[in-house]
Amino acid sequence: MDRSQTKELIENVMKELKERGEFLPLDSSKEREKVLESAGEILKTTDKIIKSYIRVSREGGAIERIPAYRVQHNNISGFYKGGIRFSEDVSESEVENLAILMTLKNALHGLPFGGAKGGVDIDPRNYTERELNLISKKYVQRFALNLGPTQDIPAPDLGTDERIIDWMVGEYKTIHPGQAYSGSFTGKSVENSGAQGRRESTGIGTFLSYLYILNEWFPQQKQRSKSKTEARHLQWDTLEKLHTKFNEADPIDVAVQGFGNVGGVAALEAYSSSAAKHRVTAVSDQFVTLVNHNGLNVEKLTAYTQKNKRLPITKEQLLDWKIEADIKSPVDIIQMDTDVMIFAAIADQVTKENMKDIKADILVEGANAPVSVEADLYLQDQGKIIIPDILANAGGVHVSYLEWKQSRVTEMYSKEEILQEMGIQMKDTLKRVYDEYFLSKEHTMRFTCYSLALRRLTSLLHKHGKLF
Ligand code: GLU
Repeated sequence: MDRSQTKELIENVMKELKERGEFLPLDSSKEREKVLESAGEILKTTDKIIKSYIRVSREGGAIERIPAYRVQHNNISGFYKGGIRFSEDVSESEVENLAILMTLKNALHGLPFGGAKGGVDIDPRNYTERELNLISKKYVQRFALNLGPTQDIPAPDLGTDERIIDWMVGEYKTIHPGQAYSGSFTGKSVENSGAQGRRESTGIGTFLSYLYILNEWFPQQKQRSKSKTEARHLQWDTLEKLHTKFNEADPIDVAVQGFGNVGGVAALEAYSSSAAKHRVTAVSDQFVTLVNHNGLNVEKLTAYTQKNKRLPITKEQLLDWKIEADIKSPVDIIQMDTDVMIFAAIADQVTKENMKDIKADILVEGANAPVSVEADLYLQDQGKIIIPDILANAGGVHVSYLEWKQSRVTEMYSKEEILQEMGIQMKDTLKRVYDEYFLSKEHTMRFTCYSLALRRLTSLLHKHGKLF
């Protein structure tokens, strides 16, 4: 990912806020300008970057030294919060960028958290259960002094899951005997005081961010978007076209890149959502794209993946499971002819190299940063709607908040309560963003999201007297 893009976008948004800083209760424009300038500087920089090395003995006996990070970007809106990823793409600048995105995501959604991110530079598929256990425990040993329920609260991310989080909590408890530990991590297993529905929450929220615009937000609009720009008109036509389809016999086609905790769940939501008529015509993982223009059986694919940890890749495997699909290569999913495309794999999938090949009308970022800033602008000018990561994939951190709250009020919520609350909170933010976006002129929806988040953060910095 071009990591300067996030900071650049923050700069651009702050520049605009300077011109219309009316959200700040200040009399003189000079004062306002000063406040916004200082806030911009603070939010572009990071509070703390901790790098360490984990040494692990591999099964063969060799000792491997692995870089590991925890980046705490900003805590003006609450305790640091963000996942830990195990991935070969992990580097200091990558983790820092993801930590900034967490600050913005939490601020946008009004959550009482700041932003952080952690990472270990490994491909977890190349490590045994014992090695992963060791790496998880050592990660906590290295960063234990900087973590805690009222300090910095990690969660799962790419390449990590509740099993890894449970190991980490166990280690945290050993290091801090007698201290509160269940709020120290979120994304724990339910037996370990995790929240029901946490695993599914990001995928459900991602699908909701698309479904809500078409099924609830758009029908409530009494008039066409007031904005005069060509892009908005084209986008309005797109919504009208899809909404008509929605109400007619023709199903809406959905393609999903990535079939893990986010993509697999989002695909299942699209497949089983009875309120809306959808047809999942393509799914992919790292090894394959499966296509069926009449609709894939996502239930069978989910069962297959649960058993085999990946999608079927040969004709025999498909036959054995009675799944009808054509086999294509993983990259083929990106240019699928579909109405909706959910990106739920990794960053940098749509860039200036391939943006002209995109056929989907609505692009949803279940993963972090799959569409580059440049591609974003180009595609919206073509009338496409791009729902950005910090808006679309926040279901996980919403439920993390409920899990953390659970540990503080020592009460357990049911799955229904949790997913219902997550839906209410997500829709509240979605509405705020869509309302503002369709009235704005040339901005991308990402710009609108950043603007809402940065206004909250600037106000807080100002209220807390951090800008003198
Ligand atoms: N890793 C997830 C994200 O990027 C969840 C973070 C959390 O729950 O703290 O939003």
